Amino acid sequence: MQRRIGIHLGTSGGAWNAVERAREIGANTFQFFSSSPRMWRAPKVAPEHAEKMRAMRTQADVGPLVIHTSYLVNVCSQNEEVRQKSTDAFRGEIERALAWGAEYLVLHPGSWKGLTRDEGLRLAAETISRSIDGLPWQGTPFHILIENTAGAEFSLGGSFEQVAELVHRLRTNAPVAVCLDTCHTHVAGYDLVSDSGYEETMRLAESTIGCANVRVWHCNDAKAERGSKLDRHEHIGAGTIGNAPFQRLLHDARFAHSAFIAETPVDAPDDELRNVQALRKLAETPLA
Ligand SMILES: [Zn+2]
Ligand SMILES: [Zn+2]
Repeated sequence: MQRRIGIHLGTSGGAWNAVERAREIGANTFQFFSSSPRMWRAPKVAPEHAEKMRAMRTQADVGPLVIHTSYLVNVCSQNEEVRQKSTDAFRGEIERALAWGAEYLVLHPGSWKGLTRDEGLRLAAETISRSIDGLPWQGTPFHILIENTAGAEFSLGGSFEQVAELVHRLRTNAPVAVCLDTCHTHVAGYDLVSDSGYEETMRLAESTIGCANVRVWHCNDAKAERGSKLDRHEHIGAGTIGNAPFQRLLHDARFAHSAFIAETPVDAPDDELRNVQALRKLAETPLA
């Protein structure tokens, strides 16, 4: 089966335009923001726009549809007002994701600064459960994907164990699965680059998160060294990860069901095309 490969796209002129853009650059899946990532308020999705998106996706065979949550949402903030705002904003994210017919909504698990990690974990689970309470997700393919982070101080989700713990706590209240980011994994200290390191890292992913739960891989090369905890994305093949681990990942049978989505820098007009093509080529080149 052909791998689902795509990239984060802008939505100027309407989110449905990204479907055409995806096909233009050889992508069969994509991610977008359903609101301005740095503003709390967002408009509702017009039914005719959602219908347009559905029709275009079906016609062009583009999916899964992935939405990335706004950066303002912090589900484990020590500040009650921020947590309440985050609950409302995340509820809006879920409503829009369901309206667009998105399969996945990616969420960074937040910063527990001022609390203990355990308290942060408890608050994150509580906020997410409250956000989705009563919304009509049953019977849809919709899942919230908890993304692993670069492991900066106070950020929740810097290890596979922490991501797994949050997923475990949410399992009975919400449809949850996982998004792993190659750059975050690498700078958090996991070895994706050496043959034995890659295998060890994936064994660990299996024993904590479970590879079947990894619905999306964010495919980003890294500007910083492994273990640096610095989250700076680089073009595929041009960073400290390099091409080989992406090739291995794209051929890894444990992730045949996953979508592979780049969030690489856009420095030049054809950078989106180049990064999608780079991943596509690695997926089509047999492992040596
Ligand atoms: Zn990411
Ligand atoms: Zn990142």
